Amino acid sequence: MAKYTVKHDRDNCIGCGACTMVCPDFWSMSDDGKSVLKGNVNNQLDIEEKDYACNKEAADSCPVNVIHVEEKA
Ligand code: SF4
Repeated sequence: MAKYTVKHDRDNCIGCGACTMVCPDFWSMSDDGKSVLKGNVNNQLDIEEKDYACNKEAADSCPVNVIHVEEKA
């Protein structure tokens, strides 16, 4: 069951690629030079506990702080 929501403020992504390095299962680079949260809907994706660490690391690695992992209410 989804426990967290990953949110990507893609407009402000600078395309550094850090998230794709630390969490490639969920993050990849797009042709427009910005990263993509795989499987997202409106730049959001619900994830399970087991996928928290990877996405948290992506969030922590982002130099412009445009990745957020929020616990679902
Ligand atoms: S780490 Fe942040 S700025 Fe860099 S590609 Fe990922 S979302 Fe974009």
